[in-house]
Amino acid sequence: MDDLFLKNMQCLACKKNFQTSKVRRSKYSVIKVDTDFCTYYRGENPLFYNTNICPHCGYGFTENFRPPGEKARVELANQIFPFSLDFSGRRNLDLAVLANKRAIECAQIQREKEILKASLYLQVAWFYRAEGDTEAEKIYLEEARRYYSDAFEKDKELTNVGRVLYLLGELNRRLGNDKEAILYLSRVINDKSINDPGIIRMARERWQEIREE
Ligand SMILES: [Zn+2]
Repeated sequence: MDDLFLKNMQCLACKKNFQTSKVRRSKYSVIKVDTDFCTYYRGENPLFYNTNICPHCGYGFTENFRPPGEKARVELANQIFPFSLDFSGRRNLDLAVLANKRAIECAQIQREKEILKASLYLQVAWFYRAEGDTEAEKIYLEEARRYYSDAFEKDKELTNVGRVLYLLGELNRRLGNDKEAILYLSRVINDKSINDPGIIRMARERWQEIREE
């Protein structure tokens, strides 16, 4: 059990304290990273523990969540507690997927930023990819694509625009939408305001891959 440690948390919704497991930084290392940043680890997967589930009220959140406002808190409080499961200890893939799906529900209720929802959906897609469930992976990749697109269109405070555009290209490529993929990737390559050499190089590689197909 010593690859995990218990972290003290405070629920953003009900404000009660609880403990949840995280993976010690010294106990995992990166084996490889896919072209959409899906990361594979030696040792316990730290991504399985990104989402905190409050055992008191069932609220699910990551460190990027804002506290829910009054209206969202009432709506959350009126929900029947969705789990009788213990999320505080070691998590298998099923628990990790459930925890992320719960965070997505909470993000929807409190109208979180599109970019945050996109990353939660993308993470679930990665979990399914690791399991070899390509059908479920596609469903979540499609949702991630939709929310990245909304974020790009609507979010005036969006940072990391190059990365978002690259992901829009790459997710479209993975979903078989080559035309859209090329539009986004060429934008990364040609937009002078994007000055992230790593992202521009990756966009060139993906574009080349589509042309060679
Ligand atoms: Zn709570």
